[in-house]
Amino acid sequence: MEPFVYDNQSYFSIKNWMKQHPGLVAGITTKKGGSSTGVYENLNLGFHVGDQFDAVCSNRNQVASLLQFPVQHWVGAEQTHDTLIRRISRTDRGKGADSYDHAFKETDGFYTNEEGVLLTLCYADCVPLFFISPKHKMIGTAHAGWKGTVNEIARKMIEQWQREGIAPNQIFAAIGPSICEKCYIVNDYVINFVENILVDVEEKPYNLISVGQYTLDLKKMNQLILLKAGVPEKNIHISKLCSSCDESEFFSHRRDQGQTGRMLSYIGWKETSE
Ligand SMILES: [Zn+2]
Repeated sequence: MEPFVYDNQSYFSIKNWMKQHPGLVAGITTKKGGSSTGVYENLNLGFHVGDQFDAVCSNRNQVASLLQFPVQHWVGAEQTHDTLIRRISRTDRGKGADSYDHAFKETDGFYTNEEGVLLTLCYADCVPLFFISPKHKMIGTAHAGWKGTVNEIARKMIEQWQREGIAPNQIFAAIGPSICEKCYIVNDYVINFVENILVDVEEKPYNLISVGQYTLDLKKMNQLILLKAGVPEKNIHISKLCSSCDESEFFSHRRDQGQTGRMLSYIGWKETSE
């Protein structure tokens, strides 16, 4: 079953998690329902891609009101395809929410167990990873393009949580809408990195299609990394939605040849008492 359910035109929600865990808000936005124009048409949520600042702010406020999670309570990052993951607390709220200048530098993952903070990251093809350990109220999200994937940001999140006293078998993960295998062609350079971390894994996430050309399934690859890190298979949910195939719903860096907007992944606990 597809874990990301179309909730309204502006986002897909991880419905099962939200049903099981009252107060949880988790999902990824689409490109619909905003006010950006041109290549950013129309729900671009990235400040750093050349869109009008006012349009991005208005789009963010629009999503905040749909989610009932004020922008002042969001955190955002300057994502660099690296693997730095930060623990976030309520005192961080607002950083990277209404401007790129105050975003967390060189950060590609967030986690928290505090209420009233929405962890957000931007995407156009890269894999959004979502994590929850209900027993510890811990939630997290990470941005995994091919670099973040082969540098194992997924494993790093699990290890960071282990240091917080959370066992891998207590962690559930959702692998979100992102570029599919069919749309993602890479060369030997990338596949060498993939090979290096999956030497002892029988199942491969890529296929040779012509000399030096491969299709690469980044979602599958992240699943294999999570399995290696000890997360049980039954705890991992994978979206079939592709950012590149589905032009009406998503921005795609590859399909749109670099000129495009950004979707936002988000996960947070609503405040139970004000
Ligand atoms: Zn595709």
